[in-house]
Amino acid sequence: MKRRETSQVKVGNILVGGDAPISVQSMLNRPAGDIKGSVAQAKELENVGCDIIRAAVPTVEDVALIKALKKEVACPIVADIHFDYRIALACVDAGVDKIRINPGNIGEDQKVKAVAVACKEAGIPIRIGVNSGSVEKEILARHGGPTPAALAESGLYHASLLEQFDFHDIVISVKSSDVASTYAANMELASRCHYPLHLGVTEAGTKAMGIMKSSAGIGGLLLAGVGDTIRFSLTDDPVQEVIAANNLLKNLGLKEQGATMVSCPTCGRTKIDLIGLADKVEAYLQGVDKPIKVAVMGCVVNGPGEAKEADLGIAGGDGCGVLFKKGEVIRKLPENELYNALVEEIEKLK
Ligand code: SF4
Repeated sequence: MKRRETSQVKVGNILVGGDAPISVQSMLNRPAGDIKGSVAQAKELENVGCDIIRAAVPTVEDVALIKALKKEVACPIVADIHFDYRIALACVDAGVDKIRINPGNIGEDQKVKAVAVACKEAGIPIRIGVNSGSVEKEILARHGGPTPAALAESGLYHASLLEQFDFHDIVISVKSSDVASTYAANMELASRCHYPLHLGVTEAGTKAMGIMKSSAGIGGLLLAGVGDTIRFSLTDDPVQEVIAANNLLKNLGLKEQGATMVSCPTCGRTKIDLIGLADKVEAYLQGVDKPIKVAVMGCVVNGPGEAKEADLGIAGGDGCGVLFKKGEVIRKLPENELYNALVEEIEKLK
């Protein structure tokens, strides 16, 4: 797929925009004062494939968290700041890799300038984050509400406040909890600026619904070539956000790393516990970095044929099953041995 041409920014050792791979972000959800817990959570996120970690910094005292994260975690760190430019300046001093702040909320021009100058000197980008609840009154009035065009315009307005101080290392996000609005707002924004876009459907909900809404919104945009870094917002453990975001990228062919699984929906021909087996195989594959495709199919008659492109697979029989490789059967086993035999074959490929 052809990606939209954008400028590129550097967030620590991760490039965002241009031809850089789509990066996965998440946000810590421990209280900012819980430094030990936050560092432990950041390490967990790193382990499951998070590229960029964001932390809320509600007060100047909480800048201590940024210092601790910078010391203990290799992943680039983004400080999420509302309103107070002094917190932004303190985070820059603490060595943060990116600031998320909306310049329009900082106040006087001199304060915006101070943040722009500090970030420019430190070589760190600023992300502007607009969502339907944060669009300026005047823009809302002109558009009759938080329409996609209003969201895009708000993002461009905040960017213009930085541009006036010759600051251009900008990433913009425009998010709505409505999938279609998020899609339309990003398409509009993409056509009106060259900045990299951070994608997300905000307040998407709990795990199952949130993954569905985020995949639809973010996935649709990525398939249209729009988007440079992504976050799944789930009312759940942020580890789940990272796993879901990486799975989306893998399934769109935008991430080479890691295994993918196909499995059949089961039908009247299925005679083994295929659903249980598929769940186990999927959980195991989360820890496999090699780009292999594994199939878990319910029957020998159609299974291997339907999953020909899989590197390895299982096809169930009556209380038994076969292992197949590239569509060819290689072993026949009782049902309770299928999982271990598959894992053994995957290990050989690693
Ligand atoms: Fe049914 Fe076999 Fe297709 Fe699975 S692979 S849905 S068991 S026909």
